[in-house]
Amino acid sequence: MKNYLSEKPDGYRIAPSPTGYVHLGTIAMALVNSYLARQNHGRFYLRIEDTDSKRYVADAVEKMMTTFNYFDVKFAETYVQSERAKIYQQYAEDLVKQGKAYYCFCTEDDLNQMRETQIKNGEPTGYYGKYAKCRHLSPDEVARRIAAGEPHVIRANFSYQDWGERITFTDAARGEIALLPQTNDPVIMKSNGLPPYNLAHVIDDTLMGTALVVRGEEWLISTAEHMQLCDLLGFPRLHYMHMPTINIEENGKKRKLSKRKDPQALVMNLIDAGYPKNAIIEYLLTIYNSDFEIWRTANPNAPLTDFQFSIQKVGTNNPLFDLPKFNDIAKNVWARQSHAEIVANFNAWNWQSLPNITPTIKTRIEKMLGVERGGERPRKDLIKFEDIADLYSYLWDEITVDGSTLDGQMLKNYAEIYDAADDKDTWWQKIKNLAPDKPTLRNLAAQIRLAVTGKTNTPDLWAICQILGNDIVKARLTRW
Ligand code: GLU
Repeated sequence: MKNYLSEKPDGYRIAPSPTGYVHLGTIAMALVNSYLARQNHGRFYLRIEDTDSKRYVADAVEKMMTTFNYFDVKFAETYVQSERAKIYQQYAEDLVKQGKAYYCFCTEDDLNQMRETQIKNGEPTGYYGKYAKCRHLSPDEVARRIAAGEPHVIRANFSYQDWGERITFTDAARGEIALLPQTNDPVIMKSNGLPPYNLAHVIDDTLMGTALVVRGEEWLISTAEHMQLCDLLGFPRLHYMHMPTINIEENGKKRKLSKRKDPQALVMNLIDAGYPKNAIIEYLLTIYNSDFEIWRTANPNAPLTDFQFSIQKVGTNNPLFDLPKFNDIAKNVWARQSHAEIVANFNAWNWQSLPNITPTIKTRIEKMLGVERGGERPRKDLIKFEDIADLYSYLWDEITVDGSTLDGQMLKNYAEIYDAADDKDTWWQKIKNLAPDKPTLRNLAAQIRLAVTGKTNTPDLWAICQILGNDIVKARLTRW
């Protein structure tokens, strides 16, 4: 048989199943693996795990690729499992020839009956020992039944060798692990000629030369089975790191982020809401490497690729998705951008989704994004573009103002001398000239702000008035 074995196990990969939109966890895996590949001078590759046709979603691969492109995730190689059926079949059949696997003709009904018997007898359920009846079919019978077109699968024969008490290995994040060997003979080739995850994973990660299989902790328990398959195939056992799952707290209980219940589980929802992509990346790095925040504080403007990802810091605790924390990171990411950068991001975002947006309002927003930007203490008010309609509501022509406390005459007096052509000092001097003392000045400034913006707290009011222009400012001052 052809030797496909990779000579250089220097690969890091993500192996998503195309089930729909990209989960935050997939971006996390992509991020972690691309750091590891870069730091270890390895390849970073993509494997699309589409052998479970029940879960296949037609345009899911395209959607996935769009998301990866958006995050600038670049792959050295791309593999699609359904195109590799022949390779898996060859290995499975080779195992059969060696007595390490066998054809199984048991039907759903047979398996259900067996289960019932096992439950009735208080025995463990599964395909093992005396219940593994297809283990002992004669080659003639097998040939005859295959020739007759009987549906069949291939099962690994785990009675082929003695696995000892425990299968032990070192998980890169969790340290020493000892698992009970699997005693059930698992299906390694389905009746449709495609392998389940177990065989495809072991063959692919071996042939593709994966240095470290980084995957979700939900796979930890099946690692024994995967190592047993490596042994049967005569492959060196693979190395693993099982990553903690991102959880969410609901009614005091922790559960996995669910793509059905939690909008933040799907990265495209976060992007559609107008979060910066680097906030997603920085948040995931914060979750998986406890010292990322310290590094970011010390290096506020360094490119993210300068950060050294450390396997030792991955940990085993399942982190909670912490929205206030995520929002805070988003504010800092926007605050670090130049005016040109944030405007470019705003234009790339679906700004048409803002309510009643017109070209004039869009131009005001673009100007507004430059207010109090840069400098020592840039303004940190923006979390996501979707919020702009609330946050900067005064940029729209119609605004709601609670005018009950406004002094109409005072504002009219001010409107007469307001001039958008005034520079900031002149503007402030004019306001001061109308106020005989400090409390009056404070009151007048607050009244102007409220009348012009409908808010008690805004960025630089002079700049906002500049953006709105004489007519709008004066109209808003003289309504009371
Ligand atoms: N297709 C598997 C999943 O989406 C991949 C697990 C792995 O990384 O090996 O969970």
